[in-house]
Order: sequence, then C-alpha cells, then structure tokens
Amino acid sequence: MDTTISSKLFAEAQQHMPGGVNSPVRAFKSVGRDPLYISRAKGSKIYDVDGNQFIDYIGSWGPMILGHAYQSVIDAVKTAAEDGTSFGASCEKEIELAKLVKKFVPSIQIIRMVNSGTEATMSALRLARGFTGREKIIKFEGCYHGHGDSFLSKAGSGVATLSLPDSPGVTRSTAGDTLNAKYNYIKSVYDLIEQNKGGIAAVFIEPVAGNMGCVAANTEFLQSLRDVCTSEGILLIFDEVMSGFRVARGGAQELYGVTPDLTTFGKIIGGGLPVGAYGGRREIMNLIAPAGPVYQAGTLSGNPLAMTAGIETLRIIDDDPEFYTRLSNSCEYLYEGFRNNLSELKLAYTLNTCGSMFTLFFTSDVVTDFDSAKTSDTAKFKSYFGRMLDNGVYLPPSQFEACFTSSAHQKEDLDRTLTANYLALLERR
Ligand SMILES: *Cc1c(COP(=O)(O)O)cnc(C)c1O
Repeated sequence: MDTTISSKLFAEAQQHMPGGVNSPVRAFKSVGRDPLYISRAKGSKIYDVDGNQFIDYIGSWGPMILGHAYQSVIDAVKTAAEDGTSFGASCEKEIELAKLVKKFVPSIQIIRMVNSGTEATMSALRLARGFTGREKIIKFEGCYHGHGDSFLSKAGSGVATLSLPDSPGVTRSTAGDTLNAKYNYIKSVYDLIEQNKGGIAAVFIEPVAGNMGCVAANTEFLQSLRDVCTSEGILLIFDEVMSGFRVARGGAQELYGVTPDLTTFGKIIGGGLPVGAYGGRREIMNLIAPAGPVYQAGTLSGNPLAMTAGIETLRIIDDDPEFYTRLSNSCEYLYEGFRNNLSELKLAYTLNTCGSMFTLFFTSDVVTDFDSAKTSDTAKFKSYFGRMLDNGVYLPPSQFEACFTSSAHQKEDLDRTLTANYLALLERR
C-alpha cells in the first residue's frame, strides 16, 4: 500500500501541531505507523490522499451511524448554511432537536445543548455538585468522559494507549475529588461510598463502555448502582456520548431498563458536526443558568448548522422503525463470521459486542473491566491492525477502542472484512 503523500503530510504537520495531530489517538503511535490523511468519505468507505480506499469501522469515533456523507444530511446542512452558520441567538432548530432527543430518551425532561461530549460531562459534573452541595465523584477505571480535569484519572483508551500517567496539569485537589471504582463490581462502589459518607455528588458511568474497548455493564450491576445512588442521595449520570442512539434507540438506559438522573450526549446527536448535550430531571436541570444559579454558557451552542445535522440524522432513524433491528442483524452476521474465523484458526480471543459496537480483544480472558481488557496482547493487536489496514479495513488504531458499524455497511463490505480478518489472524498464529 502506497502512503507516500500521507507520510509527507504527517511530517509537515509535526512542524505545526503537537505530535502532528489535533487529537491524540489519531496519531497511530501505538500501532507504529504514520496516520493516514483522509480526503473524503462516503457511506461505509473512507479514501486517503494516496488514493487508497478502506472499509471504515471508526465512523469518526461514533457519530456516523448512517455512514459518511449521508445525502439528506448533507443537503440539509448545505441549505442551513445558506441561511447563516451561527447567530448567537435562539433559533427554532434548538427546540426541534430537544424534542427529538426527548422522544428517543424519555428520561430527558430538560436538555442543554453544548459543543462536545467533553463540555457535556464537565457541565453535568458542575450541575451535580450544585444540586447536591457535595464535591466528590465516583467514576470507573477505563471509562472516558472527555478531557475535563476531573475525569483524567484512569481514563481509558487515549491515556492507556500511550501509557501516560494521570495527566500533568491536573491539580492534586481536583484529582483527589475523583474516586475510581471497578467496572461491573458493585462492592468497589459501596466501599467508596462508605469511606466518603455523605460526600459523593455523582456516579459517572459509561453504561456500555467503549473507551477501554467495548465492555458492556451487566444489568444487576447497573440496577444496584441505581439503587445505591437513590438511597444515598447521589446523582447517577449515564455518559451516553458513545452509547446514545447507538446501542438502542433510547441508548443504554433503554437497553437495560435503568434510568439515570442525568445523561450526557455527543457524537451521534450532532450527526458529524460538533454537538454535545446534557439533560435529565427537570428539578435538577432547572438549576442551570439562567433558570438557576449553576453557570454554563456557549458562543456556538445550539447553532443552526450543528442542530440541523443532528435533527436530520435522528429524523432518519426515527422514520425507520426497523433501523436498529436491521443494523443489529447485519452486525450479528459480522460477529458470527469473526467467531467462525477464530474457531477455524483455533484462536481463543475474546469478541465483545453490543449492538453495532464491538472489540476483538487479543486475550482469552473474559473482558468485563479495565484490568481484564489490559490482559490483551497489544503487540498482537498492533500487527493485526496493520494487516487489516493493508487489506483495506480501517480499524481504530488502539486495542482499547470500540469499532462501529454503520447502516451503510453492506453485506459485501462485511464479507470483505471477514476475509481480511481471516487472513490477518492467519498470519498471526
Ligand atoms: C467521545 C466521548 C466523550 C468526549 O466527547 P468529545 O466530543 O470528544 O469531547 C465523552 N464520553 C464518552 C463516553 C465518549 O465516548
């Protein structure tokens, strides 16, 4: 595969940007390659500047559930742009997107739009502290909630892939207010609550984790979390930036039948443009300014261009009652194929899946939390990743990321992926 132009661009980029990139995992550092420069994307495919074509399982890290450059989304965005990209004033589309989200996710009574998942979680955290008058939070090892100071401890993929310590620049007092529990292990939560009686404002969780690879919570664990939060006056916050509109119509909370107090969104809610949101129970959300005293604002929040991409994406899904069933079925075909390849090659690797999210972990251990995810052989993943790329399949360049399939992936794409997978695994034995 010729990647001359990409490599030249990357060399140039390193003169201008930290590590040559604007977000760390894009750098391909852990897989020992130069990143590809993408010139265009359509449906299930992305194309690089050297003219190579790939079947894409990153989907811009989650948003592209309809596939890239979905025609009616692009048309709607073009039309919206003609009328101005941002007013810094109210527009009707904000109401439209709010209503659509509430239709998908009934626990949302009031919602605030922001511009990224990071903004959503940071704001939800401030709100939880404002509401409870408490300062500490509990999160889980391996969960990522954006790059806010409070969340940068044991924070999953980006940090794990590069083996960075908890980030410099985060003060000790901020880090000290964040407590880490073990995913899928409720006793670790009970212990932290006991040791910090009356001091915990919120429990943050990815109810289906995607940032240590795909690891789903189990139902009893989430239900116990709900119960203990209710009895201790702690807010349960589902970070559905990745799982929202992805693992089910109503996100993980629908899948599990467990209702959080607040939910954060990102990725799919913006249809490929920068959008995040947080929302939930009315009496909590109405503490946000100007309804209440907890301050949070944004120059570009709710701008008509981004709202349009989100509205159009959700509307297409909303108009198609079979959307998630069809997507799940085509993913099942893919997973079945992966499992067949593994058994034919007598490899005991672990495939974790949840709807259209999946990760092939290069370990024979069952992966239920960050510690078990880390038993994966990352050297094996690295060469597997490279062979998949050479065979025309673009996977996230990290063992600790989830892959995403879109509704644009056709059977032919899946069959080509399975052949590539077979060959890549074969050479690894
Ligand atoms: C991607 C992600 C974020 C951060 O969203 P950005 O838009 O990248 O700031 C937060 N939480 C989860 C679960 C995510 O997957």
